Amino acid sequence: MVAFDDEKNLAEQKAKMIASHLRARDITDPAVLEIMAKTPREEFILDTYKDQAYADNPLPIGLGQTISQPYIVALMTQCLHLNKDCSVLELGTGSGYQTAILASLARTVCTIERHNQLIESAQNTLDRLGFNNIEYLAGDGSNGWPDFRTFDRIIITAAAGEIPLPVIDQLADPGKLVAPIGGEFSQTLMLYEKQNDILTKTNICGCRFVKLIGDHGFQQ
Ligand code: SAM
Repeated sequence: MVAFDDEKNLAEQKAKMIASHLRARDITDPAVLEIMAKTPREEFILDTYKDQAYADNPLPIGLGQTISQPYIVALMTQCLHLNKDCSVLELGTGSGYQTAILASLARTVCTIERHNQLIESAQNTLDRLGFNNIEYLAGDGSNGWPDFRTFDRIIITAAAGEIPLPVIDQLADPGKLVAPIGGEFSQTLMLYEKQNDILTKTNICGCRFVKLIGDHGFQQ
């Protein structure tokens, strides 16, 4: 009975999230809306916060890190215009929720997280949910993916002063990269588009992310 009520509450909260926090704002891509409706965010959340799984805010995932707010996950995904031919590089796996959304819409995802404990937990969840198109790496994503390759799409889910050079070098041409760029306490979500070796930038909105810590990011 309790389990049924929990499930019903989560389903109602998820429907509200889609209607009020995504559709009612500027999330219009049907593929993004569909995958946000299908992906069980509660699976990526610590037990203490499960009842807030579909609230439109970040939540702690341990080690001082957070799972991003659903609206921001949807917005960053929409900016990338993913399709099943795309290879994606993600810096900052966190809980793995954004990874799940990316892997559902793209061909492959390579994801890097600096905390072993988080990437192991994310991989367990994603394996359990049946994802088989994701490569995982524990380490400093600001150095890019270690065996050099280019990616059609890159997403950085932690704040950087600027795009790490090794990462921009791994953006394919044509390619799209989305990242929060700015200071430690507030950033602008930026979309970078590479076409014929020219990089154009678009400001999407103000945002606040935890820091990208590493050789080409902030110091600890
Ligand atoms: N999108 C994730 C989700 O849905 O759960 C949340 C990502 S969280 C806001 C940012 C993550 O970036 C944190 O887990 C943090 O440990 C990680 N991070 C910070 N610096 C990093 C780096 N240099 N390389 C890889 N991951 C890093």
